[in-house]
Amino acid sequence: MNNYGNQMIALIEELSRLPGIGAKSAQRLAFHIISLPKENVERLANAILVAKEEIKYCKSCWTVTDKELCHICRDDSRNRKEIMVVEDSRDMAAYEKTKEYKGLYHILHGAISPMMGVGPSDIRIKELLERIQKEDVDEVILATNPNIEGEATAMYIGKLLKPLGIKTTRIAHGVPVGGDLEYIDEMTLLRAFQGRTEF
Ligand SMILES: [Zn+2]
Repeated sequence: MNNYGNQMIALIEELSRLPGIGAKSAQRLAFHIISLPKENVERLANAILVAKEEIKYCKSCWTVTDKELCHICRDDSRNRKEIMVVEDSRDMAAYEKTKEYKGLYHILHGAISPMMGVGPSDIRIKELLERIQKEDVDEVILATNPNIEGEATAMYIGKLLKPLGIKTTRIAHGVPVGGDLEYIDEMTLLRAFQGRTEF
């Protein structure tokens, strides 16, 4: 790879740090980028910078938004007594597609994973607890992914919520084990939601 020169290697290295991009894909992307007209490259670089600078997190549920509160938290027709806890904003989008859930969400931004060095304080669990203590919540639905990290996270939060006396449920295991919520079809998600059981 040294044949490419330092600037090219730096670009390939940055690209290969992105999730799902291996060494080969990073090289392919890097060569594609340098083959583009300069204005296209500027547009791409600019879109990344603007997204990073201007996208905010909703003050209540922590999803990505460009406002103080996201469109779901601002929507008065939503049931404010239910909070569905998901790992990221894409999971929220997947549940929204089912059109069945009418409550609010809380985005953790990850799951507890000792293997990856992610502990409870690295995701937005503290914010969830603060929110529950401030707001009048009837049910917390733990909809983290049905894999080891997601289960561990649900278990951890469930234990924290128990003494608070709030009904806590876990989505059903109709969702295939090891599944990523984002890729599961709407019917399966709907069944997982409807079949949730008390923690
Ligand atoms: Zn929100």
